[in-house]
Amino acid sequence: MDVKLCILGSGPAGLTAALYAARGNLAPLVVAGAQPGGQLTTTTMVENYPGFPDGIMGPELMETWRKHAERFGTRVLSAMATRVDLARRPFTIETDEGPVRCRALIIATGASPNLLGLPSEQRYMGRGVSTCATCDGYFFKDQEVAVVGGGDSAMEEALYLSKLSRKVTVIHRRDRLRASKIMAERAQTNPRITFQWNSAVEEILGKEDHGIRGVRLKRTDSGERSEVNVDGLFIAIGHSPNTALFKGQLAMDALGYLKVTEGTMTSVPGVFAAGDVVDHVYRQAVTAAGMGCMAAMDAERWLERQGE
Ligand code: NAP
Repeated sequence: MDVKLCILGSGPAGLTAALYAARGNLAPLVVAGAQPGGQLTTTTMVENYPGFPDGIMGPELMETWRKHAERFGTRVLSAMATRVDLARRPFTIETDEGPVRCRALIIATGASPNLLGLPSEQRYMGRGVSTCATCDGYFFKDQEVAVVGGGDSAMEEALYLSKLSRKVTVIHRRDRLRASKIMAERAQTNPRITFQWNSAVEEILGKEDHGIRGVRLKRTDSGERSEVNVDGLFIAIGHSPNTALFKGQLAMDALGYLKVTEGTMTSVPGVFAAGDVVDHVYRQAVTAAGMGCMAAMDAERWLERQGE
């Protein structure tokens, strides 16, 4: 398939880029990726997206966003990009639905949840261990669960789980939360949420038959070990950018985030990037959307300068 503009990713950055590019008559093709709609589809109520004073559910917001982009001529391909060749134009994107050739490319592949790196975490992933409370929380209705992390994501997971589970323990490696004041306050005043400070998960303990029965913690100050009995463990310790596809082809920082200059241009002219794949500081839907808009405008102007 030959298109003027291809957009990889269908979260806030990708779909906003698509909306603007479609209105700019570029008839963009969005390759939706592994998680159509992006990270907001795994969240519940989005309370800080401007224009929604009563909040809006994440999946509903993204569905509306896709329809908005499609209304102006965006095509959304339900596919995963498997390989890219950015060495010559048109750029080639191999997908599991066939190759796409494009004159300009916007990368909005976002970021994915980090894991603790314990072998037991892989063993029990989806069988007691999860990175998404809204996806898996219901499996632990009226049971006891723990959340690892001290940021907004961890607080959000804990607050969500507190509505379903009997007891939620937040395990944090320091004695102070990184989360915003409002989220921290909500979690700390919730009677179903308790905190294990200065603690790291050393091992996830399994049941003999299936699932998990608890975690072994090691205190980060004294080294003392203890066990907490839980039926579910939710890991919310930040994210890493989805940039494996571009290694060796685009400039990245030490953490693997794409480097951009002149607005949203990557190290390859004609390839732009926006959202969490670039930004590890703000990482909000509204900032990703803003960058998506910038990338579409940058791509449009760049194509114009090439006489296309
Ligand atoms: P984050 O702010 O980077 O927090 C990650 C947390 O995980 C930190 O508390 C960190 O501990 C801990 N951590 C990192 N690696 C760890 C490891 N290996 N073992 C144990 N703990 C580890 O990430 P986030 O919570 O995902 O939030 C990311 C961004 O999204 C933020 O800008 C946040 O404001 C935003 N966000 C906003 C909302 C909302 O407003 N409703 C909801 C979700 C996310 P340290 O504190 O010790 O570093």
